[in-house]
Amino acid sequence: MAKVIDGKGFAARVRGMVAEGVTGLKARGITPGLAVVLVGEDPASQVYVRSKGRMTVEVGMNSYEHKLPAETSEADLLALVARLNADPAVHGVLVQLPLPEQIDEARVLAAIDPAKDVDGFHISNVGLLATGQKAMVPCTPLGSLMLLRDHLGSLEGLEAVVIGRSNIVGKPMAQLLLGDSCTVTIAHSRTRDLPGVVRRADIVVAAVGRPEMVKGDWLKPGCTVIDVGINRLPPAEEGGKGRLVGDVDFASASEVAGAITPVPGGVGPMTIACLLANTLTACCRANGLPEPEGLTA
Ligand code: NDP
Repeated sequence: MAKVIDGKGFAARVRGMVAEGVTGLKARGITPGLAVVLVGEDPASQVYVRSKGRMTVEVGMNSYEHKLPAETSEADLLALVARLNADPAVHGVLVQLPLPEQIDEARVLAAIDPAKDVDGFHISNVGLLATGQKAMVPCTPLGSLMLLRDHLGSLEGLEAVVIGRSNIVGKPMAQLLLGDSCTVTIAHSRTRDLPGVVRRADIVVAAVGRPEMVKGDWLKPGCTVIDVGINRLPPAEEGGKGRLVGDVDFASASEVAGAITPVPGGVGPMTIACLLANTLTACCRANGLPEPEGLTA
């Protein structure tokens, strides 16, 4: 049976390391600040923003929440982003996606100061990561990398297959694995013989958005599986809440893999922990101080 990788526990450790870093900065009179902007009333986004705010305060940082009505114009949102870019008390700026349709997402992401882009979505950070330079790294792939390093130690020379090529998970994940000297394959919806490709992998990262798609008999025995997917199954009874599952069929995969992340409790909690880690990193860089150890790519 596979070892179950405890993402929840590891995320708590990461937040503890961030809190220590914050204490060190406060001793120098610096308090890291994270600004989160939410436009509209998307229920899932409201939940994310609430937990981001709570955890930001728990690690000792300042949290600035900006809630704007759904009908906010692009110009007003860009003006707020410009104010946050210019505010020295703010070290990280995150605009919660998705945005209402009258606002061009790409234009807003491009307006965030790359040094404060704690989501790592700005094109400058994408380019820095792709060319192996210091970047702000997207939180979910960074969290997945931390779990892999913690479990495997060095990743050098390992075969990694990333399923999914999105800009927020698949592609940056592949860049990070390449940075750690894995031999990387990116699979997607047009990949031929996906099970055959996955069977080569020592590391499988599934970021597809299809419930329980990756089966145990696709896996090389002993491999490490990182399941990024978060999918809610239809409720068993009317009015109920469907179960959360990943992109990997946990029951069959855990018979074959050496280690696997569960859903929930795997990659999910690492995402917010890495957002806080990125805010600490941004604050250290802004103040010309050494970056926190073990919290960057
Ligand atoms: P996207 O929908 O943007 O990308 C999905 C990718 O999967 C695409 O590249 C697509 O290929 C590929 N794909 C779809 N169907 C198949 C298939 N049958 N076989 C092989 N590849 C396929 O999703 P995201 O990257 O944004 O998210 C992926 C999953 O991760 C979702 O479940 C999401 O909820 C979850 N997630 C979890 C986070 C966390 O904090 N744990 C954070 C972000 C996402 P193609 O490009 O060819 O269409």
